[in-house]
Amino acid sequence: MESGLRDIRELSRSELEAFLVGVGEKKFRAAQVYEWIWKKGACSFDEMSNISKSLRDILSENFRFCNVTCVYTVASVDGTRKFLFETCDGCRFEGVLIPGDGRVTACISTQIGCQMGCAFCATGQLGFKRNLTSGEIFHQVFSLNGLSNEIFGMPLSNIVIMGMGEPLMNYDNTLMAINMVSSEQSMGMSPQRITMSTCGIAPQIRRLADDGVRFNLSISLHSAIDAKRNEIMPINRKYPLSELSGAIKYFHAKTGSRVTYEYLMLGGVNDGFDDARALTEFTKISPCKINIIEYNPHPDDTFRRSGSDAMEKFISHIESCNIVVTVRKSKGSDIAAACGQLANMKK
Ligand code: SF4
Repeated sequence: MESGLRDIRELSRSELEAFLVGVGEKKFRAAQVYEWIWKKGACSFDEMSNISKSLRDILSENFRFCNVTCVYTVASVDGTRKFLFETCDGCRFEGVLIPGDGRVTACISTQIGCQMGCAFCATGQLGFKRNLTSGEIFHQVFSLNGLSNEIFGMPLSNIVIMGMGEPLMNYDNTLMAINMVSSEQSMGMSPQRITMSTCGIAPQIRRLADDGVRFNLSISLHSAIDAKRNEIMPINRKYPLSELSGAIKYFHAKTGSRVTYEYLMLGGVNDGFDDARALTEFTKISPCKINIIEYNPHPDDTFRRSGSDAMEKFISHIESCNIVVTVRKSKGSDIAAACGQLANMKK
């Protein structure tokens, strides 16, 4: 961050109270300032109309707002909108709004780039720049909620943490932002409407269980065969399927939640009968749902979409094992084939 001032969104309520009491203000001022930051989503101290000019000056001499600003938008024929956001220090990342069936889902980012290097992912090829702060993640959600109201006439119904970055590599900031988004003193969104997706950082999945999180967990699996998963998701070399399954079992035992597995169908790579059998074996470990995702090839891509025949056979094997399976059609394929491409294009 280019200025030495602390982002006001990084302060806890008690820190804010202590600061205000320290400069001679009454404690109730903290409630007013807090409401401006978290409930009204203020982006500057000037907006705080019931706060005296002298106190606003004191606040701006000591803190600042590290806002994220939408600098570019692109709309798909299917209604999906992608937004390119810029941070105070000029870093860029994406957020997406996906409308459908009377609701709007926001797909949000937690990092600038990503160090996980999944072979099929455009973000993975961008490399890693830095974590988003909790304030930046929160402001991204708040901004997307405003954009959803403006464009679709309704607030966000759901949030999926599936944009740029691996959220469990930015654990504290992501959880802090989710806590704020679901707090009644802020946006008040039910954690049941929030889904975090991870590529499988086993120790952090255990940590989520220990922290008793109430949001949904989704695992980007994409192969249940170690040798294949090693190739397409390098994280598997560090936390192979045996460790991942141990962490998922632990998560289920502690939270009682059913996990979702994301499975991107890559033609000729992970869509054979052996792959389907390995998947149903692996997912037996706890109650689950499988989301099959159609692949969107992008320019210079080595992967291709699975044929409809291969997909049908794959899905009918899963169904024959009595596992809940849904097929997710890729949305917004005409505006950027994969997550991270917009940021790449405008870099
Ligand atoms: S799929 Fe997710 S974890 Fe893998 S490189 Fe892309 S953003 Fe990172």
